[in-house]
Amino acid sequence: MSRPIQAHIDLAALKNNFRVVQRASASRVMAVVKANAYGHGLLRVAGALREAQGLALLDVRDAITLRDAGFRQTILLLEGFFAKEDAPLFAEYELTTVIHSHAQLAWLDAYPRKNGLSVWLKINTGMNRLGFMPAEVPAVMERLKSHRAVREVTLMTHFAQADEAAGISKQLELFNQIAASYHAPRSLANSAAILRHPSAHGDWVRPGIMLYGSSPFAEVSANELRLQPVMNLTSELISVRELRSGDCVGYGASFRAENTMRIGIVACGYADGYPRHAATGTPILVNGKRTRTLGRVSMDMLAVDLSDIPDAQVGSRVVLWGEGLPVDEVAHAAGTISYELLCALAPRVPVSY
Ligand SMILES: *Cc1c(COP(=O)(O)O)cnc(C)c1O
Repeated sequence: MSRPIQAHIDLAALKNNFRVVQRASASRVMAVVKANAYGHGLLRVAGALREAQGLALLDVRDAITLRDAGFRQTILLLEGFFAKEDAPLFAEYELTTVIHSHAQLAWLDAYPRKNGLSVWLKINTGMNRLGFMPAEVPAVMERLKSHRAVREVTLMTHFAQADEAAGISKQLELFNQIAASYHAPRSLANSAAILRHPSAHGDWVRPGIMLYGSSPFAEVSANELRLQPVMNLTSELISVRELRSGDCVGYGASFRAENTMRIGIVACGYADGYPRHAATGTPILVNGKRTRTLGRVSMDMLAVDLSDIPDAQVGSRVVLWGEGLPVDEVAHAAGTISYELLCALAPRVPVSY
């Protein structure tokens, strides 16, 4: 037998979440599948999302993998070209590129072919990560519209606080002001904006995290949004032991038993992608019952409290996150967000679908 940890990816849940996107918005859907589809497996996820009009990611090799596997939708490279050599590759595979910088414009100028490329012009409306400043847009648009290599231009921006009370109004207003001058398709909304800001749906929405069944909001659960967990990370107890009062568990002896208690050791650690920063008290399921982690997470193991689970024994099933235990709760306990946990699923964990 191999080590009992595994990730099961529920493609029916993924499809359910895609329908939640469709119910929320009539816009075309650019499903975000970067970072190996947030750790869920690029090809399997893309296969389950065939209805999506577009797929968005970062790495041109992944884009080519999708084309070679027969995906015919729009494929958008969210960071665009990384070098001059990328332009011909994008044209050959009919990949759509974001253009966010003057360096990328120069690489585009160096590309001799005619009408080969669809581009998404990224406008910096306040995120201050990528994109042209609003004042630069008219000149860049002129250049793109008359560019021999460019077939069509979509306007895009990205929100910094769509999930927070501050909202999107400033960025949205700025974007709309600029976009009003052009007959170009628009794309603005990530998951949070899809769910909370219909005025920002534009022509293409760009859902990521909600497809994977996690809430983009700190204060609203995935369940309340009718999102179903897609990744189920499970393992088993590989040891059960009794602690006496005063006994400690794991590295740093950071958990100390106050009474006699039963604990279990789970075959899952930070080398599997479980967050090492998850402190004592992080929720976890054993035999379907909610309990808590104890002490520090090790590379390959972690400890759990079995005080209230007397039937737990070696081989008992453990859910790290997924059905019955939202990844959002585990992320919160570890001081991070679900995105980080899902993307960090380690290659050594076997994945089933
Ligand atoms: C990652 C990403 C998204 C998806 O964001 P979620 O919060 O996961 O929905 C959308 N747009 C861009 C530009 C992104 O980089």
